[in-house]
Amino acid sequence: QLYNQVQDLKGTIRVYCRVRPFLRGQSNGQSTVDYIGENGNIMIVNPLKNGKEARKVFSFNKVFGTNVTQDQIYADTQPLVRSVLDGYNVCIFAYGQTGSGKTYTMSGPDLTSEQTWGVNYRALRDLFQISTTRGDVIRYEVGVQMVEIYNEQFHKLSAKFLHRRVDFTSTIHTLDIRNNSQLNGLNVPDASWIPVSSTQDVLDLMKIGQRNRAVGATALNERSSRSHSVLTVHVYGKELVSGSILKGCLHMVDLAGSERVDKSEAVGERLKEAQHINRSLSALGDVISALAQKSPHVPYRNSKLTQVLQDSLGGHAKTLMFVHINPELNSIGETISTLKFAERVA
Ligand code: ADP
Ligand code: MG
Repeated sequence: QLYNQVQDLKGTIRVYCRVRPFLRGQSNGQSTVDYIGENGNIMIVNPLKNGKEARKVFSFNKVFGTNVTQDQIYADTQPLVRSVLDGYNVCIFAYGQTGSGKTYTMSGPDLTSEQTWGVNYRALRDLFQISTTRGDVIRYEVGVQMVEIYNEQFHKLSAKFLHRRVDFTSTIHTLDIRNNSQLNGLNVPDASWIPVSSTQDVLDLMKIGQRNRAVGATALNERSSRSHSVLTVHVYGKELVSGSILKGCLHMVDLAGSERVDKSEAVGERLKEAQHINRSLSALGDVISALAQKSPHVPYRNSKLTQVLQDSLGGHAKTLMFVHINPELNSIGETISTLKFAERVA
């Protein structure tokens, strides 16, 4: 029995494009976005050196312009999130060059302001709310896990949380998710799961996590643009009358910046990072496009990211890719390569 009828989810992969506005202090120069159509089309205009212009249309499931609010973004994400409570595995990715708005979409600019919360907090709030209202029919338990993938290696952010854990145990139900070998979802060896029962729990965790990672705002921002961060929400439900169990999970992935690094400039550590990022983003593109084309062979093994998300990509799982572009003229090259990447997986 499905609690959430998901009608508008034909197909398992969808791609949304979001255009971030010009930022304050930035010259409101010419935008490379010519127009955004109603039907998921976006036209990009590329001024050429010879004074002419090249125009190209790209098509996605939806395109969100610069004035679209976090609320509206979530409204189009919500059906996917809710299907997790019916036992689906869902992946939501944020793709785009550094500065294009990935973190804005996933987390929002400011944790303390609910109005600007991104997809991840809204999703958690939603999951908690619905699971509470269904509490007399089905009992849900929710756990979260946070990992970062940097240079093809895991860093378990949530393991750090555990050490400084505030006492959440009073609010946890009987099942200890952390020691449940039945978990599906993120295939990270000895993953640490933290049971949570409210959005506040998660916000508290995030704050501790940010403190743990606090190596100076600039350094954090630099590092975060070169690593993938994965927030996984695991949902475990037990139907009270029949005793049947359902499991679903939601991965929300803020990807490393997709910009091509100038090979002549990058050396040493920086070059290594750039190669890892390139390889893992193209591996992700290969997996999603193989799934979109219903290819019999899906190359999951080519990157850590696709390996850990394997159970949640393909099969009955649902995928949403937010691709981000910024409208500045000097980003035109990255904008076009981002849109080409997105078209390949759409
Ligand atoms: P990324 O994570 O891709 O590097 P950010 O999310 O950090 O990019 O966004 C870069 C800057 O642009 C931040 O200052 C952010 O607040 C701002 N920004 C991004 N998207 C939007 C948006 N849709 N509306 C307003 N400001 C935005
Ligand atoms: Mg970011």
